[in-house]
Amino acid sequence: MEVRNNYINGRWQASVSGATREVINPSNGEVIALVTDSVAEDSKQAIAAARHAFDHDGSWRRMAGPKRADMLLRIADAIAARADELAVMDTLDNGKPLREARCDVDDAVACFRYYAGLITKPQGGVYEVSDGFGPMHAYSMHEPVGVCALITPWNYPLLMATWKLAPALAAGNCVVFKPSEVTPLSAVALFEIFDAVGLPAGTANLVLGSGPAAGQELAASHDVDMITFTGSTRTGQTIAAAAVGNLKKVGLELGGKSPNIIFADADLEGAVEWAMIGVFFNQGEVCSAGSRILIEASIKDRFVARLAERANAMTIAPGMKDADMGAIVSAAQLEKVLGHIERAKQQGATLVCGGERYVEGDCANGYFVRPTIFDNCTRDMDIVREEVFGPVVAIQTFTTEAEAIAMANDTPYGLAGGVFTSDGARALRVVKEVRAGVTWINCYNPTFNEAPWGGYKMSGYGRDLGVNGLLEYQQVKQVSINLQPGLVGWYPQRG
Ligand code: NAD
Repeated sequence: MEVRNNYINGRWQASVSGATREVINPSNGEVIALVTDSVAEDSKQAIAAARHAFDHDGSWRRMAGPKRADMLLRIADAIAARADELAVMDTLDNGKPLREARCDVDDAVACFRYYAGLITKPQGGVYEVSDGFGPMHAYSMHEPVGVCALITPWNYPLLMATWKLAPALAAGNCVVFKPSEVTPLSAVALFEIFDAVGLPAGTANLVLGSGPAAGQELAASHDVDMITFTGSTRTGQTIAAAAVGNLKKVGLELGGKSPNIIFADADLEGAVEWAMIGVFFNQGEVCSAGSRILIEASIKDRFVARLAERANAMTIAPGMKDADMGAIVSAAQLEKVLGHIERAKQQGATLVCGGERYVEGDCANGYFVRPTIFDNCTRDMDIVREEVFGPVVAIQTFTTEAEAIAMANDTPYGLAGGVFTSDGARALRVVKEVRAGVTWINCYNPTFNEAPWGGYKMSGYGRDLGVNGLLEYQQVKQVSINLQPGLVGWYPQRG
């Protein structure tokens, strides 16, 4: 089997470790590819390449914005041209239904196009300043941060890569990218595209390997100016601690345990459908998953019965068969999800449906879980407090708006939240009180390249997407100009 390698300084090369790692199709447990398995030395080489490209070569950061934008548009076109292949790749690698992988590819294309457009729009400001030093004029300009390290998880392999690579490159940075070791294949394809469109050598570097062996160096290195990370809160804490040495800029998009609040006056059928999307889309492996449904007590029984009916009707199959739900990403994640389910049962939550591995038909050797609903959950249960990252939802009830808000905020996380009601003022009141970075009213989970994405509290800091997503990868420089060079202003105190 051919081994996929790192891409460093414009060349494909194997890790100095000489080791390889198997990439597994979670739908059947079979090996679908081999990738090089990097260590810290590979990351060091990639950082050195990016450092040289940024500091000495400088061709990417000095390239006129419209020309960089043109490169990004060519990348977008090349992704679109390989859309079918990339969608199949993410489906085989991650386990998700093909239809969902196709949407991810479309979003990735749109994301590169969005940042190609944004980088050509006006940035910075012009300031009226005091004349105490003589006649002065000040403006600000946006510059790249420098060498940025980007680390992503496995749930949306191509899309999470794009959310970081598109704005980082648009801003003129040089980057080292490490995808999840569980789902590295579409990242390799993306770097083939970077190579084909002719990004200057060292501008974008790819390191394939595990977090501790290859990723840690990216967080700790004093030659890296910024690290942005999407993944679990625990790893985010490790990365933030490692990054402290040179006070590099840090961006963290972390986990969640997001509340989906449903009032009795909501359109029940609509709320059920959105709640399904909220927690079962992408097998529930979504950071913003509405994994805590908070429902007004008076409609709880009706809502849960309908939700269970819909969950039980979901089709489950290998991703290529395009059912409603595919496989969990790995054997390790399957064990984790089943462990959460067992603990919820032991701690007294009522299992309404699912609650077990799915092994029927051609799912026998894969890592499938039935959509699972737990009712009568209480705040002390792990299923209410901990992120499962699988198709499992916990139901709790409330009776007043104030109680719903208090329950929604009763979590260390703050990534997302939803509210369903036909009372517009109440929707706005509740959303204002929910301490989370992404909120939805009468819908759950729609995500847009144009709008900022990120968390409060232990869901991290910094934002992906939108204008904020570009600003993360920029420094702001103040420039003050003396309009009369011969005139030297003075401090009265100087005497
Ligand atoms: P993870 O934290 O285990 O791994 C994420 C990435 O970090 C991987 O590339 C991994 O190799 C790397 N890594 C691990 N240890 C490292 C270390 N010590 N130093 C540097 N890198 C290291 O997360 P995961 O299991 O891949 O993904 C699931 C998690 O990601 C969930 O908690 C989910 O909520 C979160 N997530 C968040 C968002 C968001 O936008 N907030 C989006 C997707 C996923």
